[in-house]
Amino acid sequence: PPRSDKPRLHVLLAGPRGFCAGVDRAIKIVEEALRRYGAPVYVRHEIVHNRFVVQSLERQGAIFVEELDEVPDDAPVVFSAHGVPKSVPAEASRRKLFYLDATCPLVSKVHREAEQHFTRGRHILLIGHAGHPEVVGTMGQLPDGMVTLIEDEEQARTAPVPTDRPLAFITQTTLSVDDTSGIVAALKARFPQIHAPAKEDICYATTNRQAAVKAIAPRAALMVVVGAPNSSNSLRLVEVAERAGCPRALMVQRGRELDPAMAEGLGTIGITAGASAPEVLVEEVLARLRERFELEIEEVVVAEETVTFKLPAALQAAT
Ligand code: SF4
Repeated sequence: PPRSDKPRLHVLLAGPRGFCAGVDRAIKIVEEALRRYGAPVYVRHEIVHNRFVVQSLERQGAIFVEELDEVPDDAPVVFSAHGVPKSVPAEASRRKLFYLDATCPLVSKVHREAEQHFTRGRHILLIGHAGHPEVVGTMGQLPDGMVTLIEDEEQARTAPVPTDRPLAFITQTTLSVDDTSGIVAALKARFPQIHAPAKEDICYATTNRQAAVKAIAPRAALMVVVGAPNSSNSLRLVEVAERAGCPRALMVQRGRELDPAMAEGLGTIGITAGASAPEVLVEEVLARLRERFELEIEEVVVAEETVTFKLPAALQAAT
Protein backbone atom coordinates (compact mmCIF):
# COMPACT_ATOMS: atom_id res chain seq x y z
CA PRO A 1 0.00 0.00 0.00
CA PRO A 2 1.16 3.59 -0.58
CA ARG A 3 2.77 5.16 2.43
CA SER A 4 0.38 7.39 4.30
CA ASP A 5 1.40 10.99 4.77
CA LYS A 6 -0.42 11.10 8.10
CA PRO A 7 1.70 11.40 11.23
CA ARG A 8 2.25 8.19 13.18
CA LEU A 9 0.67 7.54 16.55
CA HIS A 10 1.65 4.62 18.74
CA VAL A 11 -1.38 3.18 20.55
CA LEU A 12 -1.02 0.90 23.57
CA LEU A 13 -4.21 -1.12 23.97
CA ALA A 14 -4.76 -2.38 27.50
CA GLY A 15 -5.51 -6.08 27.82
CA PRO A 16 -7.84 -7.06 29.32
CA ARG A 17 -10.25 -4.18 28.70
CA GLY A 18 -13.99 -3.89 28.22
CA PHE A 19 -16.68 -6.46 28.90
CA CYS A 20 -16.38 -8.76 31.90
CA ALA A 21 -18.27 -12.03 32.36
CA GLY A 22 -20.93 -10.41 34.58
CA VAL A 23 -21.75 -7.70 32.04
CA ASP A 24 -21.79 -10.19 29.18
CA ARG A 25 -24.22 -12.39 31.12
CA ALA A 26 -26.50 -9.49 32.10
CA ILE A 27 -26.87 -8.33 28.49
CA LYS A 28 -27.51 -11.89 27.31
CA ILE A 29 -30.25 -12.25 29.93
CA VAL A 30 -32.12 -9.25 28.50
CA GLU A 31 -31.59 -10.39 24.90
CA GLU A 32 -32.68 -13.96 25.67
CA ALA A 33 -35.74 -12.71 27.60
CA LEU A 34 -36.71 -10.58 24.58
CA ARG A 35 -36.26 -13.57 22.30
CA ARG A 36 -38.32 -15.90 24.47
CA TYR A 37 -41.05 -13.67 25.80
CA GLY A 38 -41.16 -10.91 23.19
CA ALA A 39 -41.13 -7.16 23.77
CA PRO A 40 -41.51 -5.41 26.03
CA VAL A 41 -39.11 -6.72 28.66
CA TYR A 42 -38.68 -4.32 31.56
CA VAL A 43 -35.27 -3.73 33.13
CA ARG A 44 -34.92 -2.19 36.56
CA HIS A 45 -31.99 0.28 36.38
CA GLU A 46 -29.47 0.47 33.49
CA ILE A 47 -28.65 -3.23 32.97
CA VAL A 48 -24.98 -2.18 32.90
CA HIS A 49 -23.70 1.39 33.10
CA ASN A 50 -23.36 2.12 29.38
CA ARG A 51 -25.73 4.26 27.28
CA PHE A 52 -24.78 2.52 24.03
CA VAL A 53 -25.73 -0.88 25.47
CA VAL A 54 -28.94 0.49 26.97
CA GLN A 55 -29.99 2.15 23.71
CA SER A 56 -29.33 -0.93 21.61
CA LEU A 57 -31.48 -3.02 24.00
CA GLU A 58 -34.18 -0.34 23.87
CA ARG A 59 -34.24 -0.69 20.10
CA GLN A 60 -34.87 -4.43 20.60
CA GLY A 61 -37.81 -3.73 22.92
CA ALA A 62 -36.37 -3.37 26.42
CA ILE A 63 -37.88 -0.66 28.65
CA PHE A 64 -35.65 0.74 31.38
CA VAL A 65 -37.18 1.94 34.63
CA GLU A 66 -35.74 2.92 38.00
CA GLU A 67 -38.31 1.29 40.29
CA LEU A 68 -40.50 -1.79 40.27
CA ASP A 69 -43.72 0.23 40.56
CA GLU A 70 -43.14 1.36 36.95
CA VAL A 71 -43.41 -2.28 35.76
CA PRO A 72 -46.86 -3.60 34.74
CA ASP A 73 -48.06 -6.86 36.32
CA ASP A 74 -47.93 -8.91 33.11
CA ALA A 75 -44.45 -8.11 31.76
CA PRO A 76 -41.13 -9.82 32.59
CA VAL A 77 -38.63 -7.70 34.52
CA VAL A 78 -34.84 -8.06 34.77
CA PHE A 79 -32.77 -6.78 37.72
CA SER A 80 -29.48 -5.14 36.71
CA ALA A 81 -25.96 -6.60 37.09
CA HIS A 82 -25.26 -4.39 40.12
CA GLY A 83 -27.64 -6.30 42.38
CA VAL A 84 -30.74 -5.20 44.28
CA PRO A 85 -31.81 -4.89 47.93
CA LYS A 86 -33.79 -7.90 49.19
CA SER A 87 -36.91 -5.76 49.21
CA VAL A 88 -36.95 -5.76 45.38
CA PRO A 89 -37.37 -9.51 44.67
CA ALA A 90 -39.67 -9.65 47.72
CA GLU A 91 -41.94 -7.01 46.19
CA ALA A 92 -41.74 -8.70 42.77
CA SER A 93 -42.85 -12.00 44.33
CA ARG A 94 -45.65 -10.29 46.24
CA ARG A 95 -46.92 -8.89 42.92
CA LYS A 96 -46.38 -12.28 41.23
CA LEU A 97 -44.15 -10.65 38.62
CA PHE A 98 -41.99 -12.87 36.46
CA TYR A 99 -38.48 -11.64 37.17
CA LEU A 100 -34.97 -12.56 36.08
CA ASP A 101 -32.05 -11.59 38.26
CA ALA A 102 -29.01 -10.40 36.27
CA THR A 103 -27.02 -9.64 39.42
CA CYS A 104 -23.41 -10.64 38.70
CA PRO A 105 -22.60 -13.89 40.55
CA LEU A 106 -19.56 -12.13 42.04
CA VAL A 107 -21.86 -9.49 43.56
CA SER A 108 -24.21 -12.24 44.81
CA LYS A 109 -21.19 -13.83 46.48
CA VAL A 110 -20.65 -10.62 48.48
CA HIS A 111 -24.36 -10.62 49.39
CA ARG A 112 -24.00 -14.13 50.82
CA GLU A 113 -20.89 -13.10 52.79
CA ALA A 114 -22.90 -10.25 54.30
CA GLU A 115 -25.67 -12.65 55.33
CA GLN A 116 -23.22 -15.11 56.87
CA HIS A 117 -21.55 -12.40 58.95
CA PHE A 118 -24.98 -11.23 60.08
CA THR A 119 -26.00 -14.78 61.02
CA ARG A 120 -22.83 -15.05 63.10
CA GLY A 121 -23.70 -11.88 64.97
CA ARG A 122 -21.08 -9.66 63.36
CA HIS A 123 -21.52 -6.01 62.49
CA ILE A 124 -20.45 -5.32 58.90
CA LEU A 125 -18.34 -2.52 57.49
CA LEU A 126 -18.90 -2.18 53.74
CA ILE A 127 -16.11 -0.42 51.85
CA GLY A 128 -17.74 1.30 48.87
CA HIS A 129 -19.13 4.45 47.28
CA ALA A 130 -22.32 5.94 48.72
CA GLY A 131 -25.25 5.87 46.33
CA HIS A 132 -23.81 3.37 43.84
CA PRO A 133 -26.51 0.78 43.07
CA GLU A 134 -24.22 -2.09 44.07
CA VAL A 135 -23.77 -0.50 47.51
CA VAL A 136 -27.51 0.09 47.82
CA GLY A 137 -28.10 -3.56 46.89
CA THR A 138 -25.48 -4.98 49.26
CA MET A 139 -26.61 -2.85 52.22
CA GLY A 140 -30.17 -3.90 51.41
CA GLN A 141 -29.37 -7.58 52.05
CA LEU A 142 -29.64 -6.88 55.78
CA PRO A 143 -31.96 -4.90 58.03
CA ASP A 144 -31.28 -1.17 58.33
CA GLY A 145 -28.41 -0.25 60.64
CA MET A 146 -26.59 -3.60 60.34
CA VAL A 147 -24.06 -2.30 57.81
CA THR A 148 -21.81 0.76 58.15
CA LEU A 149 -20.55 2.25 54.89
CA ILE A 150 -16.85 3.18 54.81
CA GLU A 151 -15.85 5.35 51.87
CA ASP A 152 -12.24 6.26 52.63
CA GLU A 153 -9.35 5.92 55.10
CA GLU A 154 -10.59 8.83 57.18
CA GLN A 155 -13.92 7.06 57.74
CA ALA A 156 -12.07 3.81 58.44
CA ARG A 157 -10.27 5.58 61.28
CA THR A 158 -13.19 7.52 62.71
CA ALA A 159 -16.62 6.14 61.71
CA PRO A 160 -18.69 5.19 64.77
CA VAL A 161 -19.24 1.42 64.91
CA PRO A 162 -20.90 -0.80 67.53
CA THR A 163 -18.49 -2.10 70.19
CA ASP A 164 -20.69 -4.91 71.54
CA ARG A 165 -20.24 -7.28 68.58
CA PRO A 166 -17.44 -8.72 66.47
CA LEU A 167 -16.79 -6.87 63.20
CA ALA A 168 -16.30 -7.96 59.59
CA PHE A 169 -15.65 -6.03 56.41
CA ILE A 170 -16.75 -6.63 52.84
CA THR A 171 -16.26 -4.45 49.75
CA GLN A 172 -17.85 -3.24 46.55
CA THR A 173 -16.52 -5.28 43.59
CA THR A 174 -15.33 -2.35 41.44
CA LEU A 175 -13.09 -0.36 43.79
CA SER A 176 -9.56 0.88 43.33
CA VAL A 177 -7.29 -1.99 44.41
CA ASP A 178 -4.75 0.45 45.86
CA ASP A 179 -7.21 2.71 47.72
CA THR A 180 -8.93 -0.33 49.17
CA SER A 181 -5.72 -1.79 50.55
CA GLY A 182 -5.14 1.52 52.38
CA ILE A 183 -8.66 1.47 53.81
CA VAL A 184 -8.31 -2.17 54.85
CA ALA A 185 -4.98 -1.41 56.55
CA ALA A 186 -6.63 1.43 58.48
CA LEU A 187 -9.49 -0.85 59.56
CA LYS A 188 -7.10 -3.59 60.68
CA ALA A 189 -5.02 -1.08 62.63
CA ARG A 190 -8.13 0.15 64.45
CA PHE A 191 -9.85 -3.24 64.80
CA PRO A 192 -7.16 -5.97 64.84
CA GLN A 193 -9.80 -8.72 65.26
CA ILE A 194 -11.91 -7.69 62.23
CA HIS A 195 -12.94 -10.56 59.94
CA ALA A 196 -11.73 -10.18 56.35
CA PRO A 197 -13.18 -11.84 53.23
CA ALA A 198 -11.62 -15.27 52.52
CA LYS A 199 -10.87 -14.09 48.99
CA GLU A 200 -11.12 -10.43 48.28
CA ASP A 201 -14.37 -8.98 47.03
CA ILE A 202 -12.88 -6.73 44.34
CA CYS A 203 -13.55 -8.88 41.30
CA TYR A 204 -11.06 -10.39 38.85
CA ALA A 205 -12.21 -8.04 36.05
CA THR A 206 -11.68 -4.89 38.11
CA THR A 207 -8.27 -6.13 39.26
CA ASN A 208 -7.09 -7.11 35.77
CA ARG A 209 -8.29 -3.88 34.06
CA GLN A 210 -6.50 -1.78 36.67
CA ALA A 211 -3.31 -3.88 36.32
CA ALA A 212 -3.37 -3.47 32.52
CA VAL A 213 -3.70 0.32 32.82
CA LYS A 214 -0.83 0.41 35.31
CA ALA A 215 1.34 -1.51 32.86
CA ILE A 216 0.85 0.98 30.01
CA ALA A 217 0.37 4.27 31.91
CA PRO A 218 4.07 5.08 32.37
CA ARG A 219 4.64 4.80 28.59
CA ALA A 220 1.59 6.84 27.51
CA ALA A 221 1.31 10.63 27.23
CA LEU A 222 -2.48 10.35 27.28
CA MET A 223 -4.88 7.61 28.46
CA VAL A 224 -8.30 7.34 26.88
CA VAL A 225 -10.77 5.36 28.98
CA VAL A 226 -13.86 4.27 27.08
CA GLY A 227 -16.60 4.16 29.68
CA ALA A 228 -19.35 6.05 31.42
CA PRO A 229 -19.31 8.65 34.19
CA ASN A 230 -21.67 6.54 36.33
CA SER A 231 -19.52 3.42 35.91
CA SER A 232 -17.48 2.89 39.06
CA ASN A 233 -14.86 0.66 37.46
CA SER A 234 -14.39 3.10 34.53
CA LEU A 235 -13.86 6.04 36.90
CA ARG A 236 -11.25 4.00 38.76
CA LEU A 237 -9.35 3.37 35.50
CA VAL A 238 -8.97 7.14 34.97
CA GLU A 239 -7.56 7.52 38.50
CA VAL A 240 -5.27 4.52 38.17
CA ALA A 241 -3.81 5.88 34.89
CA GLU A 242 -3.05 9.27 36.43
CA ARG A 243 -1.52 7.81 39.57
CA ALA A 244 0.60 5.37 37.57
CA GLY A 245 2.33 8.24 35.83
CA CYS A 246 0.22 9.07 32.79
CA PRO A 247 0.20 12.90 32.50
CA ARG A 248 -3.41 13.01 31.38
CA ALA A 249 -6.35 10.60 31.43
CA LEU A 250 -9.82 11.25 30.11
CA MET A 251 -13.05 9.33 29.73
CA VAL A 252 -15.06 9.20 26.51
CA GLN A 253 -18.41 7.49 25.99
CA ARG A 254 -18.25 7.47 22.17
CA GLY A 255 -15.59 7.92 19.49
CA ARG A 256 -17.02 11.28 18.44
CA GLU A 257 -16.28 12.75 21.88
CA LEU A 258 -12.55 12.43 21.28
CA ASP A 259 -10.84 15.29 19.45
CA PRO A 260 -7.98 13.51 17.63
CA ALA A 261 -6.01 16.77 17.60
CA MET A 262 -5.46 16.15 21.31
CA ALA A 263 -3.04 13.37 20.45
CA GLU A 264 -0.95 15.61 18.14
CA GLY A 265 2.74 15.36 18.97
CA LEU A 266 2.19 12.92 21.84
CA GLY A 267 3.96 9.95 20.24
CA THR A 268 2.32 7.25 22.37
CA ILE A 269 -1.14 7.05 23.93
CA GLY A 270 -2.99 4.32 25.85
CA ILE A 271 -6.55 3.11 25.40
CA THR A 272 -8.66 0.99 27.73
CA ALA A 273 -12.35 0.39 28.35
CA GLY A 274 -14.42 -0.16 31.49
CA ALA A 275 -16.10 -3.51 32.17
CA SER A 276 -19.43 -2.24 30.83
CA ALA A 277 -18.06 -0.76 27.56
CA PRO A 278 -18.36 -2.90 24.40
CA GLU A 279 -15.35 -3.36 22.11
CA VAL A 280 -17.22 -1.64 19.24
CA LEU A 281 -16.76 1.62 21.17
CA VAL A 282 -12.99 1.05 21.34
CA GLU A 283 -13.16 0.53 17.55
CA GLU A 284 -14.94 3.89 17.27
CA VAL A 285 -12.13 5.62 19.15
CA LEU A 286 -9.52 3.97 16.93
CA ALA A 287 -11.46 5.02 13.80
CA ARG A 288 -11.60 8.59 15.11
CA LEU A 289 -7.82 8.62 15.64
CA ARG A 290 -7.25 7.18 12.14
CA GLU A 291 -8.85 10.32 10.68
CA ARG A 292 -5.66 12.12 11.64
CA PHE A 293 -2.97 9.51 12.30
CA GLU A 294 -1.39 6.39 10.95
CA LEU A 295 -1.86 4.10 13.98
CA GLU A 296 0.69 1.59 15.21
CA ILE A 297 -1.29 -0.56 17.62
CA GLU A 298 0.40 -2.59 20.32
CA GLU A 299 -1.74 -4.67 22.65
CA VAL A 300 -0.27 -5.10 26.14
CA VAL A 301 -1.88 -8.11 27.81
CA VAL A 302 -1.27 -8.61 31.53
CA ALA A 303 -3.81 -11.39 32.14
CA GLU A 304 -5.86 -13.92 30.19
CA GLU A 305 -9.49 -14.16 31.29
CA THR A 306 -11.49 -17.35 30.95
CA VAL A 307 -14.36 -16.63 33.37
CA THR A 308 -17.89 -17.16 32.04
CA PHE A 309 -21.19 -17.34 33.91
CA LYS A 310 -24.26 -19.44 33.10
CA LEU A 311 -27.60 -17.83 32.42
CA PRO A 312 -30.34 -18.24 35.06
CA ALA A 313 -32.04 -21.67 34.95
CA ALA A 314 -35.27 -20.19 33.55
CA LEU A 315 -33.36 -19.16 30.41
CA GLN A 316 -31.30 -22.33 30.05
CA ALA A 317 -34.22 -24.70 29.48
CA ALA A 318 -35.04 -25.42 25.85
CA THR A 319 -37.80 -23.27 24.40
FE1 SF4 B 1 -19.21 -8.93 37.93
FE2 SF4 B 1 -16.83 -7.75 38.25
FE3 SF4 B 1 -18.13 -7.48 35.98
FE4 SF4 B 1 -19.06 -6.27 38.18
S1 SF4 B 1 -17.12 -5.83 37.12
S2 SF4 B 1 -20.26 -7.40 36.66
S3 SF4 B 1 -18.52 -7.84 39.74
S4 SF4 B 1 -17.32 -9.43 36.83
